Amino acid sequence: MKHPPFEILQDYFENALADSLENRVKEHLLVCDQCNRMLADFAVIETKVLKRQAPDLSMQAQQRIFADAKKMLAQRGQQKRAHVERQEKLKELVVEWQEKLSFDWRVPALQFCSLSLVLAMVVAVETNQTEETTYQPISTDVQVSTYQDVTPQEGE
Ligand SMILES: [Zn+2]
Repeated sequence: MKHPPFEILQDYFENALADSLENRVKEHLLVCDQCNRMLADFAVIETKVLKRQAPDLSMQAQQRIFADAKKMLAQRGQQKRAHVERQEKLKELVVEWQEKLSFDWRVPALQFCSLSLVLAMVVAVETNQTEETTYQPISTDVQVSTYQDVTPQEGE
């Protein structure tokens, strides 16, 4: 007995054969258990595949939808994070800029302060010196006065 090739049986199972070929397969199936079992296996396999494929497909679709949603959320999150980071960086830059500005103001202020300190010190030293120089004459005055006190005594 010559069995139809596997592909012909498959096409018969999928109802894709031309009528003449289909009739030939039908005639063969009336007398061949082996090909009937094969067709039964096809049916079993198909129902298994269909039963498995349906949830598999939906799972895949779900996973794809979830993945897409996750991607979208991640992108939105990244965009949001990027926006927030940019805002924070801008804030930092503004603060830095303000600090730089105030620092730029502070440096001359510090310089001015130190300059005025130096001036004050110079003035203080100079006034001290003048005080000393004014004190020294006073002391010499005292000396002189004593000397003058003495001198008239000597002169006398
Ligand atoms: Zn057969």
